[in-house]
Amino acid sequence: MTNPAFWFSWGIKLIVLGAMAVWLYRDARSRDYHWLMWTVTPVFLFFFSGLGWLLGAIFVLLLYLGLRPRGSLNGCPHCKKRVHDELAFCPFCRRSVKRECLRCHRTVPWEATVCPHCRSNALTDS
Ligand SMILES: [Zn+2]
Ligand SMILES: [Zn+2]
Repeated sequence: MTNPAFWFSWGIKLIVLGAMAVWLYRDARSRDYHWLMWTVTPVFLFFFSGLGWLLGAIFVLLLYLGLRPRGSLNGCPHCKKRVHDELAFCPFCRRSVKRECLRCHRTVPWEATVCPHCRSNALTDS
């Protein structure tokens, strides 16, 4: 097997699936959404023959985009990694990314200084 076309297609496959695994890992981990399962999926696709891996990759990406939790990613106030805005704890450093109001006990954005629900300024620090 010294055919250059063989090595070329093998290289493309490795780069595309590698980039896909890195992207899925980062995005799924930021959303705390089965990141291990999604990161190993491109490894299985690597063993598909012909162009099956490419069709599989497109299918997996569309499936992931349809299934992943909706919402934007914001920077964690502690480790600066991107975190899905519905999470109360950062999936990377495990510290809280939201404050809690000590008066009405609802969650409050990290950058808030007064509770948007009851206007109290008694918020948790960490
Ligand atoms: Zn963090
Ligand atoms: Zn409140």
